[in-house]
Amino acid sequence: MDTFDYRRPASVREALRLVAGHPDAAFVAGGTDLVTLLRDRVRTPGRLVDINGLPLDGLRWSRDGVRIGALCRNAVDDPRLAAAYPVLVRALRSGASPQIRNRATFGGNLLQGVRCPYFRLPEFACNRRDPGAGCAAAGGDGRLLGIFGTSAACVAVHPSDCAVALVALDATVVVEGTRGTRRIPVGDLHRLPGDTPHEEHALRPGELVVAVEVPARPFAARSTYVKFRERASYAFALASAAVAVHSEHGVVRDARICLGGVAPKPWRAHAAERALRGERLDAATVEAAAEAATAGARPRPDNAYKVELVRGVVRRALTELGEK
Ligand SMILES: Cc1cc2nc3c(=O)[nH]c(=O)nc-3n(C[C@H](O)[C@H](O)[C@H](O)COP(=O)(O)OP(=O)(O)OC[C@H]3O[C@@H](n4cnc5c(N)ncnc54)[C@H](O)[C@@H]3O)c2cc1C
Ligand code: SF4
Repeated sequence: MDTFDYRRPASVREALRLVAGHPDAAFVAGGTDLVTLLRDRVRTPGRLVDINGLPLDGLRWSRDGVRIGALCRNAVDDPRLAAAYPVLVRALRSGASPQIRNRATFGGNLLQGVRCPYFRLPEFACNRRDPGAGCAAAGGDGRLLGIFGTSAACVAVHPSDCAVALVALDATVVVEGTRGTRRIPVGDLHRLPGDTPHEEHALRPGELVVAVEVPARPFAARSTYVKFRERASYAFALASAAVAVHSEHGVVRDARICLGGVAPKPWRAHAAERALRGERLDAATVEAAAEAATAGARPRPDNAYKVELVRGVVRRALTELGEK
């Protein structure tokens, strides 16, 4: 690990001041991702700004929904949250391990680095880590790579479970910078790689995520998260689905389906949502939506199995919701 200047501000304003004009500064929250990247010299910030002293914890409820502080831990255990947004709590509980969830924060989870093994090993070429260097994964082991939204420059998938649920819930991140406050829909937070995979998200340099706002929506309470992974815990998604459905008199009026583990950002399955609207949630509709969820998939031979996994997680989630 290289040396760095360590600061622990007591206010958001001080935190922003400490990173302004320091392009090599990084915020650290739970540190469960960043510290491993420092250890492996994937990231080498000259200044580390520890935000754990900032007043950014806790949940604040209102008629419009809930505001979750950026430092709220992934282990958050709140019966009201679980009842209002089952998909979010299930996604959180499916991630990492209890120890990591106790430490990991909402802000850090959304901004964690990709899990592509070549990104995390500096001896391999990686456009995301080192723009223009090439992509070792393109000719390497592709089992874990994306089937939607990838580019010739990068084929990695986004790792966060929580982000997939938040996109399904139409959530927004609240961001503070020296130029003021901005709100960014979580669906627009992460970028597709295109030719610039190193530009991973929509934050401007020095901006701090201070909260996530999850609106009250008719479909939020009838929602679930299904994740397929290589073992029952401590593993990232091979494919996952965050699904939320609102029905009136047995007919689906609105639906959200967002996929994880298959694209460089949480991937809205719009065609599958369309297959549900105006229909009864019976076996035929579930099957049509599961099939539609793979529209536009471009698998490689070694990750083609993910197409069937996507159908499986969507089918399972909708079947569960259909029984409610
Ligand atoms: C073994 C293992 C298994 C895991 N499995 C899963 C899994 O199945 N699903 C899953 O979703 N995750 C998984 N994770 C990832 C884990 O959830 C993340 O490491 C964690 O959520 C990151 O949160 P943190 O607070 O520790 O972030 P940090 O490590 O502190 O920071 C991560 C990044 O976010 C930036 N950052 C942090 N907070 C802010 C903020 N408020 N504003 C702006 N930038 C900020 C940091 O600068 C850094 O770039 C796993 C991790 C490990 C080690
Ligand atoms: S897939 Fe993306 S993250 Fe992985 S080596 Fe290629 S450029 Fe890097």
